[in-house]
Amino acid sequence: MRPVIVILSGSGLSAESGLPTFRDAAGLWRQHSWQELASPEGWRKNPALVLEFYNERRAKAWAAQPNAAHEAMAALETKFDVFVVTQNVDALHERAGSTNVLHVHGELAYARSTGPARKRYRIEAAPIVLGDLCEDGSQLRPDIVWFGEETQHMDVARELVSGADKVLVVGTSLSVYPAAGLVDAARHDAEKVLNSLEMDQVPEGFRFEKGRATEIVPPLIASWLD
Ligand code: NAD
Repeated sequence: MRPVIVILSGSGLSAESGLPTFRDAAGLWRQHSWQELASPEGWRKNPALVLEFYNERRAKAWAAQPNAAHEAMAALETKFDVFVVTQNVDALHERAGSTNVLHVHGELAYARSTGPARKRYRIEAAPIVLGDLCEDGSQLRPDIVWFGEETQHMDVARELVSGADKVLVVGTSLSVYPAAGLVDAARHDAEKVLNSLEMDQVPEGFRFEKGRATEIVPPLIASWLD
């Protein structure tokens, strides 16, 4: 059996692909209120504004390219069983070649029904506008987990982390729960590395590698592939 690596990624990983992070100075939420743009209440109040916000993010995310850190992570699959659990809603892991990716906060590249069936459609960079309906007759919305909605795939993600020989955490402030709590499921004897620009409290047992993902991750992964 091949050793198992679980990667937990956040918006800092895609920062060097030109996509803004969540809480950094230039972060998205400093320019917009999350209540307006990323909550069921905001959607009820002004769906056109919410669609416009995500249409813009979707187009930008699709125009962005995977960076050297995404590519190094995909290359790990030559020697390890690799599972990516990402808070990112872009598709840069998949576009770099990673084959097992769980998106716990949803995906920009999909639209979904607002009816009970939650049917999903792959739309890639295409916009969603008012009047775009699912086959169940309901308005389509972004397939994004908004504040107050349930994070996806958490049970599988926790199980994957608890079975990993190595856990690599990149570009997340570990401040958005429950996704941030996944680090606690890591095994005592697993090799655990956390890369970000800063971290107030490094989770127990993790080695902190401070710096940009494109500088830290490729050499680290090269050493694992050696
Ligand atoms: P966050 O903004 O809270 O934290 C970002 C972290 O990345 C910080 O610790 C920062 O130091 C680090 N960082 C910034 N640039 C980096 C770089 N070049 N290399 C390494 N680390 C770097 O982000 P988060 O923890 O992912 O917050 C979670 C929320 O943000 C999720 O809900 C997610 O869906 C959402 N989000 C996703 C995207 C995306 O898909 N690209 C973009 C913005 C926000």
